[in-house]
Amino acid sequence: MVDHRHKGGRKLPMITDPIFPTSIVTIDKFDGDYRFLSNFFLHDIVYQNLVYPSVEHLFQSLKTTMIGARVTVQTAATAGIAKKIGCKVPLRSDWEAIKQSVMMLAIRKKFSDNKLGMMLRSTYPSPLVEGNWWHDNCWGDCKCPQCKDKPGENLLGKILISVRKDLILGKPLFVPGFVDPEY
Ligand SMILES: [Zn+2]
Repeated sequence: MVDHRHKGGRKLPMITDPIFPTSIVTIDKFDGDYRFLSNFFLHDIVYQNLVYPSVEHLFQSLKTTMIGARVTVQTAATAGIAKKIGCKVPLRSDWEAIKQSVMMLAIRKKFSDNKLGMMLRSTYPSPLVEGNWWHDNCWGDCKCPQCKDKPGENLLGKILISVRKDLILGKPLFVPGFVDPEY
C-alpha cells in the first residue's frame, strides 16, 4: 500500500479536527489585535513584592544588580523609556547566561493573568514571531533590508509558544508555593 501522505517526500498535515484551520497564519507583528503579545504591553507584574508596569520594565530592570538603577527602570514612565535606560545600566556579568530565564519568568507572570492567558491560548496554532524593524534578531526577527536574509532566533516567540502550550495542557505556570528566584 502506498502512503499518499508522504507523496513527494513531504509529510502532509493530517486533519483530524474539522475546526482545525487548514492554513495556519504566522502572527508576526505584536501590534493591533496582538499588541498584548508585546513586552511593551502594560500589565502590572509583581516580582519580589515590587510592581513592574510591563514585562519590559522587569526584564530591563534585572539587567543590573545596582538597586538605584533597578528602581529607575522599574519606575520609568513608559516601557520604551525602561528599555532605553536598561541599555545604559551597568550590565551584570551573568546577564547572557540568565537573560532567557528572566524573560521566561516575566512572560509566565504576565500570562498567569486569566484574561491574558486566554488571549494567548486563542492564538493557537499560529507560530508567534515578533517581526520588527529595529534589528532584533535575538528575541524576534528583523525585516529590514540588511537583516531580511538573516533568520531571527525568535527567542521571545519560542517562550510565548511554550507558555501557550502549558496553558492549553492545563499545566500551572507556577507550582504551588513558588518563590521568585533572586536575580
Ligand atoms: Zn534589521
